[in-house]
Amino acid sequence: MIEFQNVTKQYSPDATALRGVSLTVEKGELVFLAGPSGAGKSTLLKMIAAMERPSSGRVLVNGQDVGRIKPAGLPFLRRNLGLIFQQQRLLTDRSVLDNVMLPLLVTGAPRAAAEQRARAALDKVGLLDRALAQPLALSGGEQQRVSIARAIVNRPQIILADEPTANLDRASANQVLDALKAFHSVGVTCLISSHDEQMLDAAARVIHLHHGQIDGQQDAGAQA
Ligand code: ADP
Ligand code: ADP
Repeated sequence: MIEFQNVTKQYSPDATALRGVSLTVEKGELVFLAGPSGAGKSTLLKMIAAMERPSSGRVLVNGQDVGRIKPAGLPFLRRNLGLIFQQQRLLTDRSVLDNVMLPLLVTGAPRAAAEQRARAALDKVGLLDRALAQPLALSGGEQQRVSIARAIVNRPQIILADEPTANLDRASANQVLDALKAFHSVGVTCLISSHDEQMLDAAARVIHLHHGQIDGQQDAGAQA
């Protein structure tokens, strides 16, 4: 479903974020992306969404080379992706429900249907009772779960969550992870990054990144 083939990303001559990364994520897998700040986790996730493109190598999503997608093709790719990134904050001037409805409304869904789907999504993250609250009235963990609801309301095949538990206490972080795992359990492919080793799920597959390389894959660039 997701394949990196010897991917290198250089932002500038002295900023190499990924070095010869190769990996495969199968449909329905739950994968944690671990490693310290600056290891390249965000860059890796952004490349799956074509928010960044490889300097060399290929990134395939459902067999499509996403580094070569033209701007007109991006909405089609991203329709399959639920994105939970720091940059995509909730809109603070409208309700939780309106935030979650937005991705449906922009694709032209009728309002009543969008509201029904948004309520179902909020129910799945345990926040239906906060539907009419303003985002800033919620705790950090609740806001992050609203972001998850917004990301999955279009029923994407893949969820990409970049540090979804950052700045949360342990209990809130676990609720966020449980919400993500609930989608994994119904077949959604999930990639979750975290710099916090304690957040990693012992039962899940963990990919460790250091200085832009996957641990144990230091020679991948030379081999490929
Ligand atoms: P992580 O998510 O693991 O913290 P990032 O992917 O954000 O790692 O960053 C990896 C490396 O790439 C870091 O050295 C970072 O400074 C650099 N980097 C990230 N984004 C940019 C950018 N837009 N321009 C230049 N350098 C960047
Ligand atoms: P409906 O709008 O028909 O009530 P739901 O949105 O409640 O449907 O979802 C129906 C089922 O599909 C739920 O059990 C949900 O967990 C599951 N499901 C499967 N794939 C996804 C996905 N990518 N995103 C959200 N839910 C999903």
